[in-house]
Amino acid sequence: MTRLLILGSANIDHVMNFDFLPESGQTLMSRDYRLEYGGKGANQAVASARLAQPGTRVDFICHVGDDVAGQQLCNAWLSDGIHPDGVHQIAKTSTGNAMIFIDKNGENMIGVSPGANATLTPDALLRHQPLIEAADWLLVQLETPVLSVLNALKLAKYQGCSTILNPAPARTISKELFQLVDIITPNETEAEAITGIEVTDSASAKLAAQMMHQLGLKTVIITLGKQGAYVSSEEFCGLLPGCEVDAIDTVAAGDTFNGALMVALSEGSTIDAAVKFAHRAAAIAVTRAGAQRSIPYRHELAIAPS
Ligand code: ADP
Repeated sequence: MTRLLILGSANIDHVMNFDFLPESGQTLMSRDYRLEYGGKGANQAVASARLAQPGTRVDFICHVGDDVAGQQLCNAWLSDGIHPDGVHQIAKTSTGNAMIFIDKNGENMIGVSPGANATLTPDALLRHQPLIEAADWLLVQLETPVLSVLNALKLAKYQGCSTILNPAPARTISKELFQLVDIITPNETEAEAITGIEVTDSASAKLAAQMMHQLGLKTVIITLGKQGAYVSSEEFCGLLPGCEVDAIDTVAAGDTFNGALMVALSEGSTIDAAVKFAHRAAAIAVTRAGAQRSIPYRHELAIAPS
């Protein structure tokens, strides 16, 4: 049985829309409110589970709180087919929360309380070691303590597991971490944070990818929003355009892309076929509102990755 593993964050996003963002000391009534299940790790785990073929095991190493929100997330992930072994509710801790204020022009203010996500420390990771040792593919991001991400990658590579790093949110990354990554999947902002090259199109993505190869990264996939993704690998080099759709909400587009990419590669797809599959999945997600609720199921795509 193929085993896919995601390690990362889970948040409850509280989203309010305003005409204008409140100033210091000001109280404003929002136009509306909605609660979303989010966090990059959780979005990518949900994408992997919804898109994997039956018979694939999807694990998610994640810490949530022992509050109502934590229980709701656990229930939702279970019904999506995520194996519960890696999901832990941490006593006397709140689930991660993000407060997101958006004004009528789309400008936002975001406050994040990491809560249980911050407890995914290297010590805590030790009890998840058997899951990492059993994985065929590991997908990680940078919203949980980076030292734990590094240790998980070390253990995975030691066992011969294939690794994908979605280097989000943009931050400084050590060369040691890069050496443990088979495939890196930055968006434009993250590619610029890594290389210093402003990435806006295929030509600038190619330059950034070449610099990432010099840093020791073997396969580079830079996602370019609706333009698609620039792929630079031994197998394939070039721009693979995204699907043309009427996008209404791009939240979780990159996360859907990453989950789908891992699923297709684990099924033996070539890199270009896997990216095309990921484009199809992410294109469906951007036509729907919300984070985890926008992520498609396998039956919504044509079954094969290519
Ligand atoms: P992130 O969400 O991490 O910023 P991107 O914006 O680069 O990532 O988008 C990731 C992928 O989602 C793209 O490579 C593409 O497949 C898909 N995507 C994003 N925006 C659109 C869009 N407007 N139309 C179609 N596909 C999109």
